[in-house]
Amino acid sequence: MYYSNGKFLLNKNIDSMKVDDGKIIWTGRKEEIPEGEECVDLKGKTVLPAFVETHIHPTILTELVGKLSIMAPEVNSIEEMIEKLREIDAANPEASTIEGWGYDETKFEEGRSPTRYDLDKVSTEKSVRIQRSDLHNCVVNSLALELAGIDKDYPDPAGGIIHRDEQGAPTGLLSEKAAFLPGEIFAIKSEEEKIRKMVATSLELAKYGIGSVSETLGIIDEEGDMMDLYLKSMEKGFLQDVAVYYLWNDTVSSLSQEEIDKRKEGYTASTGAKVKLSGLKYFLDGTISNGSAGMTKEFPKIEDSLYVKRDGNTPSEEDKNRELTKGLMTGNKEELREIMKFAKEKGLQVKTHAMGDHSADIIIELAEELGNWIEGAPSIRIEHGTTLRDDQIKKIHELGIGVSGQSIFFYAEYEPYSKYLDEERFLQINRLKSLYDPEGIKYPYVALSNDAPSTYHPEPANPWLGIEPTVTRRSLTEKADINQKEKLSLKDA
Ligand SMILES: [Zn+2]
Repeated sequence: MYYSNGKFLLNKNIDSMKVDDGKIIWTGRKEEIPEGEECVDLKGKTVLPAFVETHIHPTILTELVGKLSIMAPEVNSIEEMIEKLREIDAANPEASTIEGWGYDETKFEEGRSPTRYDLDKVSTEKSVRIQRSDLHNCVVNSLALELAGIDKDYPDPAGGIIHRDEQGAPTGLLSEKAAFLPGEIFAIKSEEEKIRKMVATSLELAKYGIGSVSETLGIIDEEGDMMDLYLKSMEKGFLQDVAVYYLWNDTVSSLSQEEIDKRKEGYTASTGAKVKLSGLKYFLDGTISNGSAGMTKEFPKIEDSLYVKRDGNTPSEEDKNRELTKGLMTGNKEELREIMKFAKEKGLQVKTHAMGDHSADIIIELAEELGNWIEGAPSIRIEHGTTLRDDQIKKIHELGIGVSGQSIFFYAEYEPYSKYLDEERFLQINRLKSLYDPEGIKYPYVALSNDAPSTYHPEPANPWLGIEPTVTRRSLTEKADINQKEKLSLKDA
């Protein structure tokens, strides 16, 4: 099938193409199309190359297939959320658990986090879980707490918080590393179902024009290797090429050079889709949207943050003396150094989740210490880099550090951003212009991404929801100005 009269973004000399079996097999001018061939008139529409999504969680998106989105405009209060969850349960009586995702307590009428007592109103016979929009927090009902063995005496895991009431009983809210504790109860058990949902997710991404993805939470452990799940899904119709980043754990640290090389080489499905290992992933801090990003200075409007309200914390050794009002560190410099050394030895990239400037400092210091080991691509990447100072951007350019930024965050999460950040740090949000186009010299190691589904939007993977705010620097609600100086042109975005 031919397509003519298009505006090809990357080549002004052509206006037509031929597509066969989902692949472009010819490009050229309309005049060159043989007479009598079937041809679609694009009427001047723009033809773009497929998107490369540099930070996304397709397996988590897969888990959301069939789960209820609990955000505005459908859900505006805890009351409404309970009602919706009851409805989804009534509509799926055979499901063994009840789940919702995407809530943000700062957007609820009640202005507080839901608790297990709210979710007990949904069900006391099935486990109930709701995931916060940032996916760093969840709330479960009393049954799920019981099944996961989380009680008064259960200690907080390192880098995680089990929120408790005055008597020390868990409230149901679990943050950062603690949010993983009830995971087993809600996991999709059958591989067949997992693969079916993976393929459905892939088709959704394809609709947005996403041609390749970076799995930013790749898991390998005693139970299996996510790369195998991708390969099996590709055989069943998963379309995108996938670059996997393994979350650092004991299994990863014991992989031999040979085992790493085999995975770096990658596996190709019979459909031609390919999955390969690109690097490692580590978390240094929390998020801006609940005041837990690791900052050098105090969050000025932090009184209501989930973290500060609570007594005690479980900081890493390095951050023991940090004030909680400067955010929650979920990782530390020593461990990150160990990971980077391993990556350097094995030729892998390291992506580190860092939203606050304190966390970015740690990465920059380690980059100065360890240098670069990959040619033609950054060895070290800052994921998010949500608040960066001028001196840090200078260092990032000097050291060749990669940054993957997400404009969709300030776009969709304006309420918590404006709640937790002061004016100075508001100007530091997601500085893509300063990063990519400082004084007209384009810096190659900057990428725009959506980090789907970790944001407050029912369409988290839609790339245009990241591109629009990069170009307009306006929030979704209130159309607030998020530093017009950091605007990029549509083409650069
Ligand atoms: Zn992410």
